[in-house]
Amino acid sequence: MINDAHCDALYKMWKYDLSFESSEHLQVNYQNWIKSPVKVQCFAIFVPPEVPEEAQFSAALKMIDLFYEQIINPYHHIKQITSYRDMEELKEHEKGAMLTLEGCHPIGSDLEKLKTLLRLGVKAVGLTWNQANAVCDGIEEPRGAGLSSFGRKVVQLLNKEKIWTDLSHLSYQGFWDAIDLAEFPMASHSNAIALASHRRNLDKRQIQQLIKKNAWIGVTFVPDFLNDKMEASYLDVLHHITYFLEEGAEDCLGFGSDFDGTTEFVRGLYDPSDYYPFYQQLLHRWPNHIVWKIASQNFIKKFPR
Ligand SMILES: [Zn+2]
Repeated sequence: MINDAHCDALYKMWKYDLSFESSEHLQVNYQNWIKSPVKVQCFAIFVPPEVPEEAQFSAALKMIDLFYEQIINPYHHIKQITSYRDMEELKEHEKGAMLTLEGCHPIGSDLEKLKTLLRLGVKAVGLTWNQANAVCDGIEEPRGAGLSSFGRKVVQLLNKEKIWTDLSHLSYQGFWDAIDLAEFPMASHSNAIALASHRRNLDKRQIQQLIKKNAWIGVTFVPDFLNDKMEASYLDVLHHITYFLEEGAEDCLGFGSDFDGTTEFVRGLYDPSDYYPFYQQLLHRWPNHIVWKIASQNFIKKFPR
């Protein structure tokens, strides 16, 4: 059993008008998910920056509508996850779907909009995507600024509402500001910069601080984040896991695949059904109890409550 903290299926469904049931253009569609060991799948609301500012919030609402209309409502055995208990109570034949937000730009500088998204079921909030917004700068923003005063209010609201603050994509300064303030920090899809120099990855100090703050870290299947070569395979994912474990992240680690969020694929990990052979690879390398933690338990245990 696997829990996966990040995919962009909603974004692709919204952008290309794809059907969740069986679209072959989705890595995470119903057919692939149902034949995979993924128990809880997070679905990110990601509004691309090219959407005009005034249309971003309604685009986010549209993706939430797709989440309910195409993922939750049609299937009795897919349950929405809004609490720790929801995960604990999933039955053998059931799967869980959780809403997350990738980047706070759709809320502008309006805390009421964030409250609305939380009321609609968002359980983890990424403060930025790669660019700057009213909350913080993203990792590709040359200025590299940290949390704004509005950003501090956002994190305080997430603390109060017991929602994960997702640090993936943040500027370096933003990471340190946010991890200082957040009661429930996580990095939903980031790898180790020691093994792949992409700046979206985490350095040793960041990883140590995430561990210290009892955060959750999702290893991600984006080739550029896995090595500095032209292509990557599942073996690179195993290298990152080895590194994180050596850093002491046994109780923090999990997966945030980023399926449907990238156009380049990792050999051996093309869609959620590939988690089956991958799981066997994990069992070849690590004892059962460690694999169990990484694959599912850490995610459940760290869920804010
Ligand atoms: Zn992302």
